[in-house]
Amino acid sequence: MNSLLSIASMVILVVVVAASVSLSANARPADDARAGKFIADHEARIRPLEKAVSLAWWTANVSGKDEDFKAKEQAQNKLDAALADQEKFAELKAVKQLKLRDRLIARQIDVLYLMYLEKQVPADLLKKMTSKANIIEQAFNVFRAKVDNTEMTDSEVRKVLTESKDSARRKAVWEASKAVGAVVEKDLRELVGLRNEAARTLGFRDYHVMQLYLNEQTQEQVLELFDHLDELTREPFRRAKEDIDARLAKNCGVSVDDLRPWHYHDPFFQESPAVYDADLDAVYAGVDILKLCKDYYAGIGLPIDDVIARSDLYEKPGKSPHAFCTDIDREGDVRVLANIVPNEYWMSTMLHELGHSVYSSRNIPRTVPYVLRTEAHILTTEGVAMMFERPAKSADWLQKMGVAVPDPKGFNESGEKMLRNQLLIFSRWCEVMLRFEKALYANPNQDLNQLWWDLVEKYQMVKRPGGRNAPDYASKIHIVVAPAYYHNYMMGQLFASQVHHTIARKVLKTNPDTALYVGHKEVGEFMKKRVFAPGKSIPWNALTKFATGEELNAKAFAADFQGK
Ligand SMILES: [Zn+2]
Repeated sequence: MNSLLSIASMVILVVVVAASVSLSANARPADDARAGKFIADHEARIRPLEKAVSLAWWTANVSGKDEDFKAKEQAQNKLDAALADQEKFAELKAVKQLKLRDRLIARQIDVLYLMYLEKQVPADLLKKMTSKANIIEQAFNVFRAKVDNTEMTDSEVRKVLTESKDSARRKAVWEASKAVGAVVEKDLRELVGLRNEAARTLGFRDYHVMQLYLNEQTQEQVLELFDHLDELTREPFRRAKEDIDARLAKNCGVSVDDLRPWHYHDPFFQESPAVYDADLDAVYAGVDILKLCKDYYAGIGLPIDDVIARSDLYEKPGKSPHAFCTDIDREGDVRVLANIVPNEYWMSTMLHELGHSVYSSRNIPRTVPYVLRTEAHILTTEGVAMMFERPAKSADWLQKMGVAVPDPKGFNESGEKMLRNQLLIFSRWCEVMLRFEKALYANPNQDLNQLWWDLVEKYQMVKRPGGRNAPDYASKIHIVVAPAYYHNYMMGQLFASQVHHTIARKVLKTNPDTALYVGHKEVGEFMKKRVFAPGKSIPWNALTKFATGEELNAKAFAADFQGK
């Protein structure tokens, strides 16, 4: 790393971490002591419960056993009950009103306040919400699309949407897959009502406003970002989609004007349709993905051998088919669950999960208090993971890692196009989700069927089916299970681009388009100092500014598509 940057970073680190005492008028040492006592008491009560939840979560996902899932639920209930404690919350609320001198103490109180606030919903209301959400989830689980009296699984639906050249067949299957919307519509509207009621008991206008507040965001702030993102991605997206549409239309023997939602390869057009001849998997068939990950992360100064040693990485019966990373104790016990097979998907996924693993208590110093010894925000850890996963589609990266690529030019072109289309399509889809959910909670009684397709037409540029009036929005399970959350993935992508551009320009002094980190230990140094070190000591946007010099914005992300 260059010396100018080092000096600058030292100066800022001093401001952020060391000089945590601010002298505000009326601040009293006794107040800091009272806050400190609350924090110490919290840590003594909650820390063992949090560790128990992480361990139970891990065990259940590895074994898949009913009793382990029961234990996981019990551990979670214990933690939730401890955070719901009304007396503790009253004291916390009183402490939050005080003018605290020590910034780190004040920050811990702010973070704890949001944690406890979320759990203050009246127990009977919470119970109703959980049971309503479970009913809907259950309905999703047992639902099968039915075409000509034959039931289809999700993957059979996807197979038709990926492979069929028959528009009528595609339409029938797509419509059948949307029928779950009508099944859950009434319950979903009731759930939205209950969630809004819960938000109002805590003093918020509606549930969307509350969820953002709990995550240190506001609707205005997120919307401003998404409006700008919309502007910057509209043209590149339109161009990419034009090319995709031409191929989709040709495949089905229809004109581009006749394309409808069922011509895309997934039910929501949230993923890039497989219309380009690209077989990135062939190269990965002979690659030891785990070794590549170890070498790569060690080469950039962020070794992960002890993470690997604690991890569960290959398929076995009962085990969760997905992948995740978890920090068990904020003392360095960090593990990854995965199901590696040698293909491009698992290369990306492992780079991603190990990206989470380096942004953890392994690289957040012990001097950061327990409450803050975690990522600044879900969007910053997703952003780091997304940044590290991107090179899996680059032949240049593979070659630098010592892997032979028979047709590097072809691999790079396909990989670049896939990545660009994925990111553009995903960004337009997130625009729909953010704006729909905001409007849903603001006014659940409006014509939601119409609103959904208005947004799809505007942002995804997909024509609505003529004469259709159905609750298609309700067929998206995330509205039930992960409400007001999707935008964080998109903001993570913006963070990924912004940090990458900073690394390219300031650390590697090269063009972000071609910058690779292979063998550059100064990249790990930069990540440790500028991204990991503060933990949650500063909010996500302050961290973004600390790491990149600017608040989170869409410029770097958009620049990744310019002229491509
Ligand atoms: Zn992730």
